[in-house]
Amino acid sequence: MSIHLETPVEYLKGVGAKRAEILKKETNIFTVEDLLQYFPYKYIDKSNFYSIASLRDFVNTYVQIKGQITAFHIAGSGKGRRLTAHFQDNTASIQLVWFNNLKYIEEMLRKNTTYIVFGKPTLFNNAMNITHPEMRTEQDENEYSATPFQPVYNTTEKMKRSGLDSKGVSRCTYQLLLEVKDNIPENLPNYMLEKLRLIDRKSAFIHIHFPQTQSLLKQAIDRLKFEEMFFMQLSILQFRQKNNQTSNGFLMPKVGAKFNEFYKHYLPFPLTDAQKRVIKEIRNDFVSGRQMNRLLQGDVGSGKTITAVLLMLIAIDNGFQCCLMSPTEILAVQHYTGICKLLANTDVPVALLTGSTKTSQRKILLPEIENGTIKIVVGTHALTEDKVVFDKLGFVVIDEQHRFGVEQRARLWKKSLSPPHVLVMTATPIPRTLAMTLYGDLDMSVIDELPKGRKPVVTQHYYQKDRPKIVRFLKEEIRKGRQVYVVYPLIEESETLDFSNLMEGYDSFKIDFPEPDYKISCVHGKLSSDEKEVEMQRFIRNETQLMLATTVIEVGIDVPNASVMVIENAERFGLSQLHQLRGRVGRGNEQSYCILLSDVKLSSDSKKRIQAMVETNNGFEIADFDLKLRGPGDLSGTKQSGTLDLKLINIVADEKIIATSRNIAQIILADDPALSKPENTLLKDYLEYLRKTKQKNYYRIG
Ligand code: ADP
Ligand code: MG
Repeated sequence: MSIHLETPVEYLKGVGAKRAEILKKETNIFTVEDLLQYFPYKYIDKSNFYSIASLRDFVNTYVQIKGQITAFHIAGSGKGRRLTAHFQDNTASIQLVWFNNLKYIEEMLRKNTTYIVFGKPTLFNNAMNITHPEMRTEQDENEYSATPFQPVYNTTEKMKRSGLDSKGVSRCTYQLLLEVKDNIPENLPNYMLEKLRLIDRKSAFIHIHFPQTQSLLKQAIDRLKFEEMFFMQLSILQFRQKNNQTSNGFLMPKVGAKFNEFYKHYLPFPLTDAQKRVIKEIRNDFVSGRQMNRLLQGDVGSGKTITAVLLMLIAIDNGFQCCLMSPTEILAVQHYTGICKLLANTDVPVALLTGSTKTSQRKILLPEIENGTIKIVVGTHALTEDKVVFDKLGFVVIDEQHRFGVEQRARLWKKSLSPPHVLVMTATPIPRTLAMTLYGDLDMSVIDELPKGRKPVVTQHYYQKDRPKIVRFLKEEIRKGRQVYVVYPLIEESETLDFSNLMEGYDSFKIDFPEPDYKISCVHGKLSSDEKEVEMQRFIRNETQLMLATTVIEVGIDVPNASVMVIENAERFGLSQLHQLRGRVGRGNEQSYCILLSDVKLSSDSKKRIQAMVETNNGFEIADFDLKLRGPGDLSGTKQSGTLDLKLINIVADEKIIATSRNIAQIILADDPALSKPENTLLKDYLEYLRKTKQKNYYRIG
């Protein structure tokens, strides 16, 4: 049978049903195309021969030498029994050593035959040797083994056990390329290849797996990286364009009674210029006739909530309902309380709906949401349940968004005849490249200004031994009437350890801050949501001066009177998490402090994170630094939402390719929005194919 890209891998020679099953389970490889796109993560340079005399400079690095065996020895006993071959070229000699299959190897290898030897030289008893080298004769050379850059693939234990170690994968890929190479269709039109100087697709696949030279390897990677990002951009931009053209966006032209009443009489503070600007931007969307999809970025404490509330009032003035979705119950409750307080003097009905809303309450709430009585619904994922039906949902606000994936967003859309306007709010600044990829379908607004009178939080790093000093400092702050957060790391693998950490901390804080002078709230995962709520409320009402918690207070909580954030085991937190936590203080007019407590022994990365925190308060700088430290694979949000499954592109290093491919996609779509011109047929077909097969990454249209 002839092999095509869509052929299941089991039909490949050398794979078969059993290995196909393992590939499927371990690496998600189903088809020939999947295997073709299972790229090496590095290459071992076999393009050079080293002279044996020079090897002392290359201890523990892979080298390739050429020479002859002059003698064999078997020595040692038990586990130490080994075969040694004396190997030399015309510069010096080295020992080759085997611990297994001694007889077989001795029989296989010949003296006075030229071998190419590949391996890692080590120094043992001041003699150079290579253990378990790879040996081949010049006659053994075929296209595959002669690859000067040996590809190295990621493999798992299970794969290795069935012969799919890196070499095994490479053998399969080699076979695959032999069989499929005439069925790898080009997906970029000629005019693009020429203009961008990209090599053709088939060659790119051959050279990324079996590069003959460094330069061919680079060309192959360039071509495939471009392709990966270009089609993603093409799909995002076409989706956006389509969305912008259709006039299905709700119109909200009126600034009516609700907004005006609130703005004139109940606004608790003047808005910052940035808040005003953002409201204007969004009002433009409300009257554009297009459905809005907008990301609102603003550092912690920049006042995103009130901005959203004002916009909700506009939507309500125009006869629509709104909802605000938070990632956690605590946040939803806090938002609900906050919004109720803001709107206390207006007659806007607000409701709370979360996973723990009682059935009896739901029985009252759900009909009121459905008949349109309730204008603002604050909640969690519970809002996306099918039972929640709106009368006229016009505006959806999603808080702390990277916890919600594209798919969850889409579910909210469906709650309305036409999709509502969507505002996604995030306090984690998103680096530009990521914004272009992960959130490429969203327009962007930024609140880049903190409310007036805010003093930057002072951040200090201390060690455990400095505790007495910190206790004194906290008492001083509490005496001034302030409140204190103390946060413990959440250890995902071990809830118990986590809990006992917090409890130990609680005990020692109870000793340092005894009742009745001091009162402590303690919130952790073992409490029911009602119990959590009680503890939180005690702190919010200033009945307790200290709030001990695991990271549950990471986002959103708003207690302006709290002026100190103590972070225990700060070395265990990620940078953006630390920044989020710091954002919990500095919300009032008082000087606030963030105290990072750590062990004396710190890894170099922990040290860098803590240092970055001490040095800057700027969320964008933190985000950039974080991206560089952690690399894109581990960016918060990308994993959870699962939308960014990139094979070759590196969000940090490939900024230029990302920008170029977006640019070019833009130019092409401006000229040919539906990709219907003959020269763009390849693009259209391939994009359709991707939308069909890779639904997660590619926006479908329609
Ligand atoms: P975030 O953007 O982190 O969600 P919030 O919306 O929670 O920030 O606002 C942080 C704090 O700042 C709240 O206490 C809020 O009432 C207050 N705030 C918001 N806007 C202003 C403003 N323009 N002037 C003064 N305080 C403000
Ligand atoms: Mg917030």
